[in-house]
Amino acid sequence: MSSAEVDTKCDYRMTIGLEGHVQLKTESKMFCGCPTTFGADPNTQVCPVCLGMPGVLPVMNRRAFELAVKTALALDCTIARVTRFDRKSYYYPDLPKNYQISQYDLPLSHDGRLDIETSQGKRRIGIIRVHLEEDAGKLVHAGSAASNVDLNRTGIPLMEIVSEPDIHTIEELHEYLASLKLMLVYLDVSNCNMEEGNIRADANISVQMDSGGAEVSSPISEIKNMNSFSACEKAMAYEAKRLARRLRDGITLDTHPKETRGWDEERGVTVGQREKEEASDYRYFPDPDLAPVVMDDAWLAKIRAEIPELPQARRKRFVEKYGLSEYDVGVLVSDRALADYFEELVKATKDPRTSCVWVTQHVLRELKSRNLTVNEFPVSPAPLAELMSMVEDQKVSITAAQTTILNVMIAENISAAAAVEKAGLAQVSDASALEAAVDAVIGKFPKEVAQFRSGKAGVVNFLMGMVMKETRGKANPQMVRELLQKKLS
Ligand code: ZN
Ligand code: MN
Repeated sequence: MSSAEVDTKCDYRMTIGLEGHVQLKTESKMFCGCPTTFGADPNTQVCPVCLGMPGVLPVMNRRAFELAVKTALALDCTIARVTRFDRKSYYYPDLPKNYQISQYDLPLSHDGRLDIETSQGKRRIGIIRVHLEEDAGKLVHAGSAASNVDLNRTGIPLMEIVSEPDIHTIEELHEYLASLKLMLVYLDVSNCNMEEGNIRADANISVQMDSGGAEVSSPISEIKNMNSFSACEKAMAYEAKRLARRLRDGITLDTHPKETRGWDEERGVTVGQREKEEASDYRYFPDPDLAPVVMDDAWLAKIRAEIPELPQARRKRFVEKYGLSEYDVGVLVSDRALADYFEELVKATKDPRTSCVWVTQHVLRELKSRNLTVNEFPVSPAPLAELMSMVEDQKVSITAAQTTILNVMIAENISAAAAVEKAGLAQVSDASALEAAVDAVIGKFPKEVAQFRSGKAGVVNFLMGMVMKETRGKANPQMVRELLQKKLS
């Protein structure tokens, strides 16, 4: 029997704990004043501190600390009143100090949680800790002859979010990552730009299986530096199968140590790198150059006050307050700016349901086709509300409003009234003009008129469509319907 055949039975359960590294949204680095701007020429954003020169003194970035505490509070963590930084020693060519400043036994927070929604219901993923550390540099491999090192990234503030090993399916992994990212966007603590490596994940994974009534566990693999959610999901699916095969071959946690592996995106496989270091290998010790940080009530309260309404609370409120469907609320809340736009629109229109249709269907369609973000969208809520009220007052047809007029407003950046004028699409509600159009259509389609008169009531929709076409969408549909019914019966 091949391993692939066994896998289809899925006789194992996976257990994943995730370490997310999130680049915080600060202008300067974690322990020096160098800028954090992405894309600068190599080694232009460095100074003696982040280059690790002897004798320099690091100074903690207060804003980075606050952003990490803000995130920890949102994840329901306990905040440490006294916390400190430690040196984590390792030798790597892109780490000039030969240690990373991180937090070891006194992290700034611990014991939180993040609730996620899955097809199997709500799941609670424990958060072991949120702590602060600094990024390393980047090796640029220039062919086989040489590697160059770019230290611009060295010392950039990173927040590490460590989950409990509570993730047991790829769906849970996906929901955890997506919920966490959305929360970070709402908190405004990171740009969350995946292309610029703002969020990277390491994962610890093992699989468990039943063996004669007892559960056996595979060794643990740590997969390093996955820089997209899809890479993370693919790597975990791959590694779970690989570990399950090894477990069936009798390779268990009791007999084999942890292993550090990398994800090879091109080949779609994980590759062994080294046996996993234990904490003792890092020779952690308190950084003597950095004073412990003491949090008082006032500082904590100030940070707590910065936390906005978070996605879960917002979803609940949108359903209850506006009577929208879970689906529509999901679409709105998944983009903080879109949800803000919607709420602005509702303030102006006092009509949540119609506003929701406009935003989730027509605004989103235009954003997608133009590849714009909500903040780049030229039509702000006020002019859109104006357009909606023109539809309500039957000054324009809804079809014209949702297509041509909206497009003119976007292209010309003008008010609804000006766009209607420009497009020549003011709705025709003048009875005599409409009567002429209706008469013309009745004259053109004698066969359909006869069908209607012999009882096929549905034909009226075809005739209405023809009148709308005749008037280039400008006819008041209700008046057309009434006129047609009158003239045909
Ligand atoms: Zn620096
Ligand atoms: Mn780390």
